[in-house]
Amino acid sequence: MRLKVLGAYGASDAEHNLTGYLIDDWLAVDAGTLTSKLSFAQQARIQAVFITHPHADHIRDLPHLIHNRFSQSVAALTVFAAKDVMELLSKNIFNGVVWPDFAALTSPFTGKPPVQYRALTSGKKTMFNNVGLTVIPVDHQGPASGVIVEINGQAITFTGDTGPTHEIWKRTNKTPNVVAVISEASFPNDQQTLADESGHLSPQTFGDELKKITVDAPIYASHRKIPFERDIESQIRNLRDRRARVLLEKNYTL
Ligand SMILES: [Zn+2]
Ligand SMILES: [Zn+2]
Repeated sequence: MRLKVLGAYGASDAEHNLTGYLIDDWLAVDAGTLTSKLSFAQQARIQAVFITHPHADHIRDLPHLIHNRFSQSVAALTVFAAKDVMELLSKNIFNGVVWPDFAALTSPFTGKPPVQYRALTSGKKTMFNNVGLTVIPVDHQGPASGVIVEINGQAITFTGDTGPTHEIWKRTNKTPNVVAVISEASFPNDQQTLADESGHLSPQTFGDELKKITVDAPIYASHRKIPFERDIESQIRNLRDRRARVLLEKNYTL
């Protein structure tokens, strides 16, 4: 599979982008950075986006992706999220105040709503375009779930934001042909208390998570906070686990 990392940071400035991933040009995971780095035509090719949790850095571009779809002559965008996350998005974002509920509107180009929301049941594999999506809760602030994506005989796990967690590793360990795991290391080791209290990992606790993962595939740390990225990177290298990598904003072939 091809993985385009549009945003690999837990903060943004002119050179660092918020969480946003694109698999094979049509399936997105998180929407911190999608419209801001993709042309209108590239956005039209996105068929579905999975949202890990409702924090602003993971949904920033979602209202704009949906709004653009309203003016595109292509099939509706499907927004996937765990049930509890979807409820928060509907109540707090697509509520007719912050942004319209485009699922209740009709696009003049297709005669249909430009978006549909699909709430997923945790632990159950859902098929979409022959791709398996298994949603697993993680340990962050409030409702948050990662996803295991199975596509063309390969699997990739995205935890989204999380502190130390278990269930998603158990499922990942049982999933055939995992080619990459995308997790996080938000704060450097000297801010361990902040990482723990905010439901995030440091390189040290990222290293502890690696011990729970039995798959032999690269395990990437994303979501670095900007002022500490160099410290985090050197601390990841010092883990001396050959699977441990820092996720970069570039295209990967897995
Ligand atoms: Zn985040
Ligand atoms: Zn978060």
